[in-house]
Amino acid sequence: MENHTSRTPHKTYVLTIDVEIDAGPKWKTSNPATYEGVYRGIPLLQRLCESYGVKPVYLISPAVLVDPRSVDLLKSLDRETCELGAHLHGEYIGPMATFPGPDFSGCDPQEMQCEYDKDIEFGKLQNLTRKFTDLFGYAPTSFRAGRFGARGWTVECLEQLGYTHDTSVTPFRNWNNIADFSTATTLSPYHPSKENICAQGDSQVVEVPVSITPELEWLRPTVRKFSDFTQCQKVIDWYETHVTPTVLCSMFHNVELTPNTSPYCKTEEDCQELLNRVEQTFQLLNERGYVFKTLSQVTIDG
Ligand SMILES: [Zn+2]
Repeated sequence: MENHTSRTPHKTYVLTIDVEIDAGPKWKTSNPATYEGVYRGIPLLQRLCESYGVKPVYLISPAVLVDPRSVDLLKSLDRETCELGAHLHGEYIGPMATFPGPDFSGCDPQEMQCEYDKDIEFGKLQNLTRKFTDLFGYAPTSFRAGRFGARGWTVECLEQLGYTHDTSVTPFRNWNNIADFSTATTLSPYHPSKENICAQGDSQVVEVPVSITPELEWLRPTVRKFSDFTQCQKVIDWYETHVTPTVLCSMFHNVELTPNTSPYCKTEEDCQELLNRVEQTFQLLNERGYVFKTLSQVTIDG
């Protein structure tokens, strides 16, 4: 018998964390290379997430995969409570790596993968995927481009490499005309076109856009640059009013969780402020009945 009761669509929240090597004020990497944002930052965040049932998605840069202690820490996390995925900063991995590594002290990452020749972009994604698979014992299924530098071809590459989810689209933002998402008007998860990542199309990949309003406010608790709790709440309210199904995608970086390892948090107080914003957001979402998912658990229905 058919079920005719109308279902209230659930609201979904995904927390995505770009996992980077420690960096300085303008994202130049630490020298000597350090990984405090992994060693101290991730356990802090993971504990907070677990107390609210939030399942963070750690999208890992190739500059972190060279550090065995970082890999061990990430490997030790319970896969029921989080997800590990991939995050490409193409200068750190071949073919044609600008910084061949494995020591990435004092590097200045500037590249966006949408500027590479197509075969180079595919090669870098393939190497990143292989490296992840070798280290963790399974293939990643979720991805974000470094500096959000993804394009339609990126989607094609991800699909060929077995990814099911991408979260590189930052609606309404135009990154120096290199990655331009100003025409991205689909704010819920969608299947993107392999010609234009902003448009709906026939890819099997699910695109989960980062939650940004037309006024360019982000669901991003970054201290000194992005949204305090009141602004985060405004973004949440805007999405609930304008976007169905409501799938909120928040982002920040692991290196914001420790002082002086990113352009943002300078002091322990800054880091505490970031965690306060995150916790207040979790509390609000709990009160509003959100379902907490990893990226891989998101469907185009929420
Ligand atoms: Zn990044």
